[in-house]
Amino acid sequence: MARLDTREKLAILADAAKYDASCASSGTSKRDSRDGKGIGSTEGMGICHAYAPDGRCISLLKILLTNSCIFDCHYCINRKSSNVRRARFTPEEVVALTLSFYRRNYIEGLFLSSGIIRSSDYTMEQIVAVARSLREEHDFRGYIHLKTIPDADPELVRLAGLYADRVSINVELPTERGLKRLAPEKDGGRIEGAMADVKAAIVDREDAKKKYKSAPSFAPAGQSTQMIVGADSASDRDIVLRANNLYDRFRLRRVYYSAFSPIPDASAVLPLQRPPLMREHRLYQSDWLMRFYGFSAGEVADAADAGGMMPLDIDPKLAWALKFREHFPVDLNRAPREALLRVPGLGVKAVNRIVASRRWRRLRLDDVARLTVSLAKVRPFIVTEDWRPTLLTDRADLAAWTKPAQTQLELFGG
Ligand code: SF4
Repeated sequence: MARLDTREKLAILADAAKYDASCASSGTSKRDSRDGKGIGSTEGMGICHAYAPDGRCISLLKILLTNSCIFDCHYCINRKSSNVRRARFTPEEVVALTLSFYRRNYIEGLFLSSGIIRSSDYTMEQIVAVARSLREEHDFRGYIHLKTIPDADPELVRLAGLYADRVSINVELPTERGLKRLAPEKDGGRIEGAMADVKAAIVDREDAKKKYKSAPSFAPAGQSTQMIVGADSASDRDIVLRANNLYDRFRLRRVYYSAFSPIPDASAVLPLQRPPLMREHRLYQSDWLMRFYGFSAGEVADAADAGGMMPLDIDPKLAWALKFREHFPVDLNRAPREALLRVPGLGVKAVNRIVASRRWRRLRLDDVARLTVSLAKVRPFIVTEDWRPTLLTDRADLAAWTKPAQTQLELFGG
């Protein structure tokens, strides 16, 4: 490997890390240095958890320890056979960079992943060394997200969880079939085994914390995973059902969906084109329906078309409503909260405000207009004191009717 200075390494290793979407920093415990102790913070003045429109977090130093790898996953730009420029940081260099970026207010934390060098254990030791040094030698209190290596010694994964706010292990592909085809050196069973170990450690620490306040925490922001979308033939229905299965079994905080991007010198088994970014967006919306809107995975999957794909031109909540019109219109003055959450165009905030307001008076269309930003989009699906959409929900052209020109009904409007 040619000798590179830190700036050159950073250019290579930050670029190589951009393919990993699983870096959101929400949901961790509060920790700061405002009492003059330590350095960094997971919250407070000057720190924002900024998300790009596609859900990616944008305020962490997001790098790989190295983009060299002994594996040869077809979809990965860092695979062994890839003809890319390689670079490698030492743990000390990553620590110095993190502290220097933090002091300059560029970042609130670190997202660290790595290609596999020498062995899974060796790589994991290096990753843990960075987090240990930041926490123990520099009293760093900012956010740390470590990507763990599934085959690594469970003791190393446990150490990672002691230092990190969040740990993640990528399942990579939505189906075992896809994993075998595109990442033949990876083992779905071992990936899930590692996720189960992390879950058990999180549960143990939570129990210990209930008894002893001083019990050390373990990955307080939980664990997450990432699935690549569009590199194999898995449908949106497959992806939604798989995500739900992972949430249930491993108590994941988040599943991230990353639209496959074609890479230079791509393997012949990969598609030539990336899937539309809107597909990734629709999967995130589907995920929200399961996590915040009370939809079961089966219901969300039912919004897909006959080929198992979510429509791209309308959001999954509207797609579901158009398919299951017997659930509408919903009477905003009487219906339970769960039914309100199913109305296209009503977000959680709007529903909460409707539930609070209707305790005092019967809601009219004007009231709904004040509570939402998308009355025109909501109207076909609701009943208020002065409004009933006669036969509207039976219209064959309701989908077009609910879509203003050039814009579409948004799931989280209102
Ligand atoms: S193990 Fe990770 S870094 Fe290595 S080729 Fe596979 S996906 Fe890429």
